[in-house]
Amino acid sequence: MVEKNILIVEDERALREMVGFGLKRAGYQVMEAGDCAAARTAIADRLPDLVLLDWMLPDMSGLEFARALRRDEATRELPIIMLTARVAEDDKIAGLQSGVDDYVTKPFSARELVARIEAVLRRTSSHEERLMAGAIDMNIVSHRVTISDREVTLGPTEYRLLKFFMMHPERVFSRAQVLDRMWSGIYVEERTVDVHIRRLRRVLEEHDCAQYVETVRGAGYRFSPGTQRNGK
Ligand code: CA
Repeated sequence: MVEKNILIVEDERALREMVGFGLKRAGYQVMEAGDCAAARTAIADRLPDLVLLDWMLPDMSGLEFARALRRDEATRELPIIMLTARVAEDDKIAGLQSGVDDYVTKPFSARELVARIEAVLRRTSSHEERLMAGAIDMNIVSHRVTISDREVTLGPTEYRLLKFFMMHPERVFSRAQVLDRMWSGIYVEERTVDVHIRRLRRVLEEHDCAQYVETVRGAGYRFSPGTQRNGK
């Protein structure tokens, strides 16, 4: 069985590391983020199976971030467990309305947390391991991509770029934003983005899908797979 991957979004480093340690011992893979911006980058890079989301974060409240994840097609189904020090009822109600799957109130034991995670994962096990957009079908587990049922060969960067786009359809990204998501922490020139977009388009073109990657004048790129439904 593939190990489930949990993203911990918590700004208190000691707590984050402790939780991460406990989850690794319980057999999970762990990704860590200290704020919502880092969480976004992590999610763009690899869609986790579940997010542990602290309520109080430096750049945005966990609740707002949960709402943002629910609004995004790619993360709508992503299970979220809120870590909270708050116990007030109205907070709980507000949390449920934003579609959070469960709560764990601090302080909690690793055992309690793992039990909650297991319960949520059981409930939501229909969780997507595939991304689909227009005629493109991407299996995130096997890294296989097919277009209209024909296998497509992509370089690693083009694969990540396509995955990023498929996770964020119909949204305009500037070159700088694509750079930030794809090559964060590495110095890369903006025209590198164009090079990889061109390569991706060339592959898509062979399958009549080059138009999915649109150039938005003066703004950047938008992935727009069209309004095809169910492929028929
Ligand atoms: Ca916090």
